[in-house]
Order: sequence, then C-alpha cells, then structure tokens
Amino acid sequence: MELIDPFGRTVRDLRISITDRCNFRCTYCMPEEGMQWLDRKEILTFEEIYRLSKICVERFDVDSIRLTGGEPTVRARLPVLVKKLAKLRVPQSANSHLAGKNIDLAMTTNGATLRLIADELKSAGLSRINISLDTLQSEKFFKITRRDHLANVLDGIDAAVQAGFTPVKINAVIQRGVNDDEIIALASFGREKQIEIRYIEFMPLDAQGHWQRNDVVSQNEIVTTINNVYPLEQLSARGAAPADRWRYLDGGGTVGVIPSVTKPFCGDCDRVRLTAEGQFRTCLFSTSEFDLRAMLRGTATDDQLAAEIKRAVGTKWAGHAIGNVTFVRPKRSMSQIGG
Ligand code: SAM
Ligand code: SF4
Repeated sequence: MELIDPFGRTVRDLRISITDRCNFRCTYCMPEEGMQWLDRKEILTFEEIYRLSKICVERFDVDSIRLTGGEPTVRARLPVLVKKLAKLRVPQSANSHLAGKNIDLAMTTNGATLRLIADELKSAGLSRINISLDTLQSEKFFKITRRDHLANVLDGIDAAVQAGFTPVKINAVIQRGVNDDEIIALASFGREKQIEIRYIEFMPLDAQGHWQRNDVVSQNEIVTTINNVYPLEQLSARGAAPADRWRYLDGGGTVGVIPSVTKPFCGDCDRVRLTAEGQFRTCLFSTSEFDLRAMLRGTATDDQLAAEIKRAVGTKWAGHAIGNVTFVRPKRSMSQIGG
C-alpha cells in the first residue's frame, strides 16, 4: 500500500539521521560549542532503524533510503547497518522502477573520513554518496567548518569515486559573502572530476539562528553565473528530486541547484524523515513530530507502528513558508533533524 499525503503526494524516500554528532561544526548548521548531544541510549539502535525501515519499504513501497546526520560516518559499525538496510527489497507489486529489487540506499557525508570506509560501504551495498564541499580554499574551509580537513575531504571524494560509487555528487551550500565567489571554481572542479555539483540555497536551519534572506544566493543567480562561463541547457523536469539540473553545452557534464528558498519544490516532495532519536517528521521544517521510539521501546506491534506512520503522513502540510510572515523556524537545527 502506498503512503499518500493529504495533497496527493506519494512518499517514496525515507531520510534517516543515524547520529546527531559530527566531527565538523559548519557555521550554517551548528554552533562552535554547546551542542547538547543525545545520550547513546536515546539514539535508535540498528535493530530499531531496521525495523522501521522494513515497515516503510515492505508495507508502504518506500524505494529509497538516505542515511544522514549529524555525520553518519561517526556512527560506529556503520557498514553493519548499511549491509542490513541494503538487503531490503521493494515489493514486486510496487509502482516503482525498483519493484522486486533492492532499495536505493544513499548517504550524505562530509567526506572527512570516507577514505577509511568507502570500500567497505560499497561492499556492504551502499549505492550512492553525496559529499558536502562548499569551498576549495583551505582557509575558507576552516572558516566554514571550523575544522582543518579540506585535504581529507578531497581525498574522500577521490576514495568514493575509486570505490565505484555512481554517481558521487557534491553538495555545496552557497552563502552570500562567504563562498559565492567560488561558484565557478566549484563548477570547474566538478567538470574536471566528472562529478555533479549540487548548489544548495542556504536555509534557515542554522543552530545559531543567524540566517537572513540576504545571505541566500538564489538559483537564478547561481545558474546565470555559471552560464556566463560555461553555457548551460536545462534538463527536463526533476520529478520528486530536489535539484533542478542543467547540462554543460560543451559536454562537460551536469550541474544541479536545489532552490529550497526561492523556488520550493514542496509540491513534488516525496520525503519523510526519522531523527536519530526516533522522531518521525514529514518535512525538514515540521513543527510537530511523531515519537516512534516510544512505540518501538514499548509494546507496539508492526501494525501499530505502520498505523502511526500513516497517521503522521496524514498531517503532512502543503509546503514550508520560508519568507512569509507565517513561517516558523523549527526548534531543531539541520544536524538535529538530518539534512
Ligand atoms: N554531515 C553530513 C554532511 O554535511 O554532508 C550530513 C548531514 S548535513 C546536515 C546534510 C546536508 O545539509 C549537507 O550537504 C549540508 O551542507 C546541508 N546543510 C546543513 N545546514 C544547511 C543550511 N542551513 N542550509 C542548507 N543546507 C544545509
Ligand atoms: Fe556536520 Fe554536516 Fe552539519 Fe557540517 S553540515 S556541521 S558536516 S552535520
């Protein structure tokens, strides 16, 4: 049975935060100090994550799971979880190109320690990786992430490609006055490596609440900047994927832009989220959550968990309202939700 929300959108993609912790402190996500980490026992176990994932895939035809955080690679024994999840099979009856096949299992990571586990993750069945990289300059990298790990991230990108992940994509959050001068440098890097760069509009999910509308570099501006140097042609509609995509006219590959603020894609959203401590959310910007952990650790049956997931999806709203007077920032910041 499909999970269909009140606006007729079908849920296909589950984003699971597997830890709230991180080895970076990106300014647009976390404060330098003072994050209150969850206690180990508050975090869902691999068994609990697997149980909920299985329900979503086998009962509700979810065909795609993305592991995120915090930084997913800081969770101990990550390949063990990947191996379990990668074996989940989309029902034969599902209206999905993956019907009867294994789910599409992806991960978003800062890449800093990827060199150490890329091969292991690949053998465990992870299909795709997105690596975050906002700058190619080490001083600026330190300023943004508050860590001196640019070389490790660049090496992590190479490790992901060498391990055979297809595709590897790079996420770059563009902030005015911070790295908007590197839009072309990042595009050139992607062309050279034959990796798709996905520019992301800065969203009001920074823990310190410093986000301002003026800090957002819009999709239009990003595309115009690139097009002036490397002419682009837009590719056909994105479906439920968040990025609009373009191809370089000279055959240099493709590029994506995620216009979360200036052109929200809520109308096509097929995503739901699970936080590290088992709170189910129907939107990054949700102000309400459904406590699946309490059910998992109580006496709930799979039928009851499935019913609660269905109930939660029944409350999914039409879309966020960033920029409108009605917009309310969620209490959690990006790393506490799972981006
Ligand atoms: N730690 C991993 C990483 O950085 O890739 C995964 C978690 S991170 C929260 C997921 C994605 O969210 C990253 O690509 C990050 O750049 C992006 N992100 C974090 N805060 C953001 C914000 N305020 N606006 C837009 N994107 C943001
Ligand atoms: Fe960590 Fe990712 Fe947040 Fe940066 S964006 S602080 S790497 S969770």
